Amino acid sequence: MTEIESLLRPNVLGLKPYSSARDEFSGNANAWLDANENPFDHKGLNRYPDPHQTKLKARISEVKKVSASNIFLGNGSDEAIDLLIRAFCRPGVDKVVTFSPTYGMYKVSAAINDVEVKEVPLNTDFQPAGDIGFIDDPKIKIVFLCSPNNPTGNLMDKEKVMELLKNFRGITVIDEAYIDFAKAESWKERLSEFPRLVVLQTLSKAYGLAGIRLGMAFANAELIEILNRIKPPYNVSVLTQSEALRQLENPRNVEIEVRSIWRERKKLSEALLSLPLFATIYPSDANFVFATSPRADDVYSFLLRKGVVIRNRSSIFDGALRITVGTPEENNQIIELLRTF
Ligand SMILES: *Cc1c(COP(=O)(O)O)cnc(C)c1O
Repeated sequence: MTEIESLLRPNVLGLKPYSSARDEFSGNANAWLDANENPFDHKGLNRYPDPHQTKLKARISEVKKVSASNIFLGNGSDEAIDLLIRAFCRPGVDKVVTFSPTYGMYKVSAAINDVEVKEVPLNTDFQPAGDIGFIDDPKIKIVFLCSPNNPTGNLMDKEKVMELLKNFRGITVIDEAYIDFAKAESWKERLSEFPRLVVLQTLSKAYGLAGIRLGMAFANAELIEILNRIKPPYNVSVLTQSEALRQLENPRNVEIEVRSIWRERKKLSEALLSLPLFATIYPSDANFVFATSPRADDVYSFLLRKGVVIRNRSSIFDGALRITVGTPEENNQIIELLRTF
């Protein structure tokens, strides 16, 4: 048994995946009479999508410089998070670790799958701190790290991540939804060194396509094969695949928008810093600014009344507000409003 097989849920290890009509035959045909589709053309959408997303993976492979066999595509990275928990964690038995405050979906996905979450608080610099001896618990199957972290905006220290990757025998997931806004190398460059590392990225943030739902998981080929085995066969729609391909024709567009967001992030942070309303404005490697205010709830509802929606995170971190960097006009608007608070 391989290391990864020994971590898998036994039912997943023995699973025979559903073989779709398009799995059994995917060449060229004169007549497709195998999948009970409507034969009349509806802009190509009467046909099921490619279950292996072959064309899209080939393009992502070029853009991200990762071999196609190391790429899983899902209905947002949220699908990859859920599939990873389902593949490795036995309900009511196994556990996952998260470092709080962090992205809420790890906990929700774990709860849906009846998997216990051990929440370890980040230190005052929002870094995983101190002793990681707790990961010796054999029931801990997955550790989720978010870098840059949502909602705090910081990258996780390289040394601490390395310590985890070297010592944890389970699956380490590094969620890099915001990596395109950070001046740091992606952990996907180090996949070959760490066979139990999974790196998550998405088209929802820098790539501007939250609406199409396309998430990517990068990992060693054996792990990717497992995710493919348990995913719903047609999890990425025809529309999503074609729109993603269109956007990836010219990745330079993304760079231009990211540069604007960098400038605006600086402007927004500096403006907030000049207001006595806020206690701390944290440095950000993402497309949002994380700040604390003793009057967080009042600030939040004041902005809401003015039609500006930000994220009130004071329930998970004292006085915390998360403000997404918008267009220059939107940022000017929120800055002006806050000056009149
Ligand atoms: C926004 C976000 C995602 C994106 O999820 P999708 O399902 O791909 O839209 C993933 N992880 C984190 C930490 C996020 O903030």
